[in-house]
Amino acid sequence: LTGARSGARPAAAGAARITLKAGKDRPVLRRHPWIYAAAIARVEGDPEPGAVVAVHDAQGRRLAWAGYSPASLLRARCWTFEPEAAPDADLVTARVRAAVARRAALGEHTDAVRLVFGEADGLPGLVADRYGDLLVVQFHAAALEPWRAPLLAALREASGCTRMLDRSDPSLREREGLTPSVEEGGTGGGRCQVREHGMLLEVDTRRGHKTGFYIDQRDNRHLLAQIVAGQVRAGRPPAVLNAFCYTGAFSVAAARAGAQRVRSVDSSADALALGERNASLNRSDAQMQWVCADVFAELRALREAGARFDVIVLDPPKFATNAHQVERAARAYKDINLGALRLLAPGGALLTFSCSGAVDAELFRKIVAGALADAGGDALVRGRLGAGADHPVSLSFPEGDYLKGLWLERC
Ligand code: SAH
Repeated sequence: LTGARSGARPAAAGAARITLKAGKDRPVLRRHPWIYAAAIARVEGDPEPGAVVAVHDAQGRRLAWAGYSPASLLRARCWTFEPEAAPDADLVTARVRAAVARRAALGEHTDAVRLVFGEADGLPGLVADRYGDLLVVQFHAAALEPWRAPLLAALREASGCTRMLDRSDPSLREREGLTPSVEEGGTGGGRCQVREHGMLLEVDTRRGHKTGFYIDQRDNRHLLAQIVAGQVRAGRPPAVLNAFCYTGAFSVAAARAGAQRVRSVDSSADALALGERNASLNRSDAQMQWVCADVFAELRALREAGARFDVIVLDPPKFATNAHQVERAARAYKDINLGALRLLAPGGALLTFSCSGAVDAELFRKIVAGALADAGGDALVRGRLGAGADHPVSLSFPEGDYLKGLWLERC
């Protein structure tokens, strides 16, 4: 049998196979890359974690090739949907090159760029972020493990980065039955400085959130700067509130654009300390306040104190990590949006976000509309916001569309 079909690749020969239950092949036929354990009728060939498996439908037709993950409910992640094209080192290398090439145009405004965004780039579970000449990687799927060496080699070569840091999340790896991954390439990591639309920002790649920085908010920080600059031109340098400020990237964007004062609130003292440092790296005349507090309580306290802001940014952490938490998350989103709308001056701007994948854009709009109904008055949607172009979303994988936001103008 081996090689009987011309063009069959070595990995195809003798590969283990999974057979889907009848009627459970629809997502695969639509090129959705995730196969849950519940969709699988049979596993043959005793595949190891990460092994390449052929994916068959109930009639025995081969539909796809996937990487197997015996420990996870997300049992397999598809590499290709061509029955004859099993993945190999050339395929993963080509995908890394294509992913890096896709971002080539973004380098003009920043050197903090997401070079690989998992499933959307055909590299399930892989994240690679560039911070200048430092590459920070995350391996979050068993499917990736056999390809670690060619993936890292391709990333190094395509990005030109000279340093590399593995920031894989041990708890996400554990879900895939994987041990914490070891750091590759030795010398990388720690603090580094990046530029973004004229700002200079320090990133803690070892201890910071995600790979150290919220790269996905780049365009929205730039939008904030434009909104602030518009108010400055109109003779009204705004008072800005940045809630859930993390290391102050939105705050610095507002300050540089001419805000009169910027109040930045976060519950993490470490994040605030780096925020202050970031403010000091960038020249501005804005009065900067850094407040270590719970945003829910702070919004209420500000209201009681009669505070007013012309521009507010609300960029909370993920309130819902799965569908079961959506209701509770919706209440939390409504609470903070109501609090923010009550503090917003007439004509003021609110940039409000949700990064919960389980809360889609329409639900988020409804939650914010509910908050507005309680706050009274009206608001205009001036823009629908999302992650930057280095976070592409595959139409067959809507789960990748996690960040959504609204730019509202208070009437
Ligand atoms: N807007 C930021 C990213 C925000 S991440 C940027 O562009 O860089 C979310 C932040 O919310 C984290 O810094 C976390 O410390 C903070 N946080 C989480 N829960 C909080 C709470 N209840 N009150 C205040 N800050 C909170």
